[in-house]
Amino acid sequence: MKYDVIVVGGGTAGCACAYTSGKLGLKTLIIEKNSYLGGTMTGGLVTPAMNTISKDNTDFYKKLVKKLSTIGGQVTYSDGNKGWFNPELLKIALDEMMNQAKVDVLFDTEVEDVICEKNHIKAIKINSEILSEYIETSNVVDSTGDCNFSKKINCNFLNKSSELQPNNLRFIMSGINLKIFSDWIMEFDKDRTVTTSALIDGQIHLSTAYTWDTNKNWALRPFFDDAVKKKVLKYKDTSYFQVFTIPGMPDSLAFNCPRIVSEPEINPLDPIEKSKALQSARQSILRISNFCKTYLMGFEKAYISSIANTLGVRVSRRLKGKYVYTIEDLRTGKTFENPCLISDYPVDIHSSKKNSSVLEKTNGYSLPIESLISADYDNLFVAGRCISTDFESQAALRIIPSCFSMGEGIAKYIASLSH
Ligand SMILES: Cc1cc2nc3c(=O)[nH]c(=O)nc-3n(C[C@H](O)[C@H](O)[C@H](O)COP(=O)(O)OP(=O)(O)OC[C@H]3O[C@@H](n4cnc5c(N)ncnc54)[C@H](O)[C@@H]3O)c2cc1C
Repeated sequence: MKYDVIVVGGGTAGCACAYTSGKLGLKTLIIEKNSYLGGTMTGGLVTPAMNTISKDNTDFYKKLVKKLSTIGGQVTYSDGNKGWFNPELLKIALDEMMNQAKVDVLFDTEVEDVICEKNHIKAIKINSEILSEYIETSNVVDSTGDCNFSKKINCNFLNKSSELQPNNLRFIMSGINLKIFSDWIMEFDKDRTVTTSALIDGQIHLSTAYTWDTNKNWALRPFFDDAVKKKVLKYKDTSYFQVFTIPGMPDSLAFNCPRIVSEPEINPLDPIEKSKALQSARQSILRISNFCKTYLMGFEKAYISSIANTLGVRVSRRLKGKYVYTIEDLRTGKTFENPCLISDYPVDIHSSKKNSSVLEKTNGYSLPIESLISADYDNLFVAGRCISTDFESQAALRIIPSCFSMGEGIAKYIASLSH
């Protein structure tokens, strides 16, 4: 068995990469440790994709929006953002797209062994007794989020132990009367800018938020304060609260919380810290759901319908690439000969300390393809949140549309080398 491209990690960036690679005629395989595609978008329940200047930034994005909208899993929000996705239908859409692009997919699979010759990857072996032969490959793309493949072959990394952000464990509540909740919260929050709501394709879509930071006069603050006083919530539960509706789920809301606060921050690569964080986050989910039922109109019959299978990790390992992109490059909008993405998404650094999170506006920036090429191996590439950047610039580059651009960009680059 021989492939032109093996994509390790069928998540956000990996799917964009594999789809494009397959469409460009390269024989492509995805190796995915879970039983579904989409990574943080599906298993982590992260929705919606952020809005940036480069709307429709990739063919992959356009195809995905089209495919999802035909099965009721996408809407375009009132601000023009097409990235409001249904995470369950996304799994189905991604399966279909990989079939269309003739990409082979192996679920529940991880790389067990790698054969390298000097700085060149020759073949890999997966953890299966049945598919036990080595699989030859011309290129490998590490899109595991944590650089798990690159770690196996002793690559160099850029991350320092202090460079962490809090992780979130997302969840969904269903059984909500969204009409009642929308009418109530729009009236309750009418003088502020935190809540938006719109009727789209016959379904109410909305978003609202609260954080413990004092930079905004949050409408929901009296409820959070009271809930802490009455021990419905712990103070740490009030760190961050954000909800979005989900296309095709007219009685549900996706929660971008709890944000797991801890000083020092939890290291998602440490299995002990990560496991404790997951257990603690699920307790927090129970408290937040009780808070919603007690304080928010329309939640009387609501219940937890889903908890993310995977922890939402903002940053972990970052590969050392041919170019290390910096926050100065981003702030100055430095231009490059081979950009793989253009964006204006802010530098978004969450912190466990109150009033310490950063959301720094940018004027637009691009990322060179060299930040996706390994410094250590001539046929190893990286896409997604584990690219070759400093900590601060990664905090702007990790969003879903940018991960799509990286995946598509690297597939096109590999195709240009092969033809
Ligand atoms: C809490 C949170 C909220 C966010 N909110 C938003 C938002 O609202 N909008 C937005 O645009 N972005 C948001 N982001 C950012 C964005 O969702 C992620 O940065 C992005 O999805 C990461 O994509 P990725 O391809 O790097 O990793 P992933 O999508 O996580 O993909 C990695 C894949 O690799 C697989 N994998 C891992 N290890 C192995 C292995 N050893 N072998 C095989 N497979 C493996 C995983 O199972 C997974 O499928 C958020 C992130 C977080 C954490």
